[in-house]
Amino acid sequence: MKDAETKKEVNRRGRRPSESLYEEIPGFMYIAEFSGLGFRPLNSVGGFTSLTGYRARDFFKIDFYDTNVVDQDDLHLVRSFRDNVSTDQNPEEVTYHLRKRTGERVLVKERMVILSNHRETRVVGGVITLAAEPRVPTGSRGDEDGSLRMQEIQRMNDHLLEVNQLKDEFLANTSHELRTPLNSIIGFLTLLTEGYYENENEMRLFTKNALESSHHLLNVINDILDISKIEAGTMDTHIEKVYVDELIEEIQSLFEMQAEQKGLVLECSTKKPPKFAAADIQKLKQVLINLVGNAIKFTPRGTVKLTADARNKHILFTVKDTGIGIPTDKLEKVFQKFIQVDGSATRRYGGTGLGLAISKHLVEMMGGKIEVTSKGVGAGTTVRLTIPSWKEGK
Ligand code: ADP
Repeated sequence: MKDAETKKEVNRRGRRPSESLYEEIPGFMYIAEFSGLGFRPLNSVGGFTSLTGYRARDFFKIDFYDTNVVDQDDLHLVRSFRDNVSTDQNPEEVTYHLRKRTGERVLVKERMVILSNHRETRVVGGVITLAAEPRVPTGSRGDEDGSLRMQEIQRMNDHLLEVNQLKDEFLANTSHELRTPLNSIIGFLTLLTEGYYENENEMRLFTKNALESSHHLLNVINDILDISKIEAGTMDTHIEKVYVDELIEEIQSLFEMQAEQKGLVLECSTKKPPKFAAADIQKLKQVLINLVGNAIKFTPRGTVKLTADARNKHILFTVKDTGIGIPTDKLEKVFQKFIQVDGSATRRYGGTGLGLAISKHLVEMMGGKIEVTSKGVGAGTTVRLTIPSWKEGK
């Protein structure tokens, strides 16, 4: 931004996404690299520390085979389970005893699935404690605890299955999303190098198509890199004074042509007086581009409106469209990564299902909130987000 104030940049450390869902689980989930030589742990969520007594960072160092984490009596069982786990993408499970750092034995169930694409193989697993069950006296309040624990186990199993399915869909969608533009680039460049064009206009058209596909490919790759950065907790924001009205104009000019080509009315407006947000301009722009891009993508006819208003020490941005809408039972899920309302192989709209997940993280890192509403299929969609207003003297 042009304003001299904008030079006063404030760095804020990115916050890790909330893991509250997983903290409720009596165990932990992990993802590991899988090679012929064994597992290399990549990430874990949930109660690794409370279950094992080891520190969170030990998760990356501990070799379950060579330490006392797995009870010595069960070591052969776990080793042969892990050595023989099938690679056909079906979940498998084993029950064994862990030995906590304090020496206490805990009965656990581990369920894992091996997922692979042509480049890499990952293990996604979950370990949950069953320890409370054998100690529960029958006919007492303990029965309730036992059945609650069983419900938790069931919930975790369901959750693991869902994660597994999402990973499958993600691998299929992502490789499709990467291959489609790449094939198009290769196709058009081949036509150009072989001289298969009739005239200069056609040559320009082929070049334009190859260029558009390259931009699309870059977007997909950037989304994948962004979500990895967010998950690794290494995404930073640089908060500065952002002139909102100018940003809205910029978004309008970015999407004008695309909307016009689809026959849509694109209205981007702000009310007076001028408004300033305390935001990372690149990240805020990225979020608005994603939301307006989605609105245009999912609206076959009608209007897409972007507005910004000052509200309660915040700037409220609204992106409203008259498009295909979102079924009410799917609204809660669209911010989860890899979720697409239409996740089928025959889906009509491109995308990786990462845009809204990234947007939510970015907005929250800037101290804001985001929500999506829709009255259902065919009834359009509205996304609202808030970002703190700029306070002078910051
Ligand atoms: P992508 O657009 O790459 O699939 P997003 O995370 O941006 O991923 O969106 C997730 C899903 O939410 C989309 O696949 C779509 O099903 C739904 N969605 C998002 N925005 C809209 C919208 N404006 N109208 C209808 N559906 C939407």
